[in-house]
Amino acid sequence: MTQDRLTVLSQLPETLAKPLEEMVINPKFSATFTSQQVEHLIHTTGFDAIALAQHLLPLAATYAYTPVSDFQVGAIVRGKSGALYLGANIEFSGVSLGQTIHAEQAAIAHAWMRGENKLSDIIVDTPPCGHCRQFMNELAGVEALQVTLPGQATKKLLDYLPESFGPVTMGMKVRLMDQQTHHIRADFSDSLQQTALNALNQSYAPYSKALSGVAIELSNQQIYLGAYAENAAFNPSLPPLQVALIQLRMHGDSFRDIQRVVLAETENGTITHLDITRSVLEKIAPQSQLVYIQV
Ligand SMILES: [Zn+2]
Repeated sequence: MTQDRLTVLSQLPETLAKPLEEMVINPKFSATFTSQQVEHLIHTTGFDAIALAQHLLPLAATYAYTPVSDFQVGAIVRGKSGALYLGANIEFSGVSLGQTIHAEQAAIAHAWMRGENKLSDIIVDTPPCGHCRQFMNELAGVEALQVTLPGQATKKLLDYLPESFGPVTMGMKVRLMDQQTHHIRADFSDSLQQTALNALNQSYAPYSKALSGVAIELSNQQIYLGAYAENAAFNPSLPPLQVALIQLRMHGDSFRDIQRVVLAETENGTITHLDITRSVLEKIAPQSQLVYIQV
């Protein structure tokens, strides 16, 4: 466990710190608390799920990667399953700020790639910026999504985003995190390419229709995948590389161990992530090999 995480644990109430340490110390801990673990922590501490998540925010913030701002933000989403997923902001030096991942986006994409298809709550340690409010407006079940900020009563996201522009404006029926697959098939002998195709099939791109997915392989053979998450307002879209990097970071792995990356996209798409994928990787993992496939 990192020094940061040990420090955070030492500052928590003892009834929480003790059971939490057993969970976090596990080398397989991946910044997620299953519904059973959440129930256990609620039972031990007497907190409700939201108060528990608020206490866990400093732990979430330890996953931040902030070479530009040195400002760490923690966010936690609660899935319909009752599980909690941590997220933190991730920045990349040497590329445009548009590539930045906000903590709320990290927590949401983390839950999405772990198979959640609806969120009940998001708990953050700073008010969500306009970009994140817009990103969240794309979510399945957004009408019921609740936001909890420090020292504030829990409110619905839509209270923070009146007169919103979003998928409804654009006449979209499908939403981000809705269970969907695009059934695009191809046969690759390389399993990483097949994994990237699986990620593409989970992607959400109802506006551009340009499906896209990324698979990352580390030098220790660990694999992470990321599906593209598009947004009605375009700019808050989260590219597939970023979604995969969130998984990597939340599992406690390091960018310097990235060995191979596959970006899969549909042929003749109106947009492509190839250039930005290449430029981000050149900065964070110059040793890595990027393979581009079109299906
Ligand atoms: Zn934000």
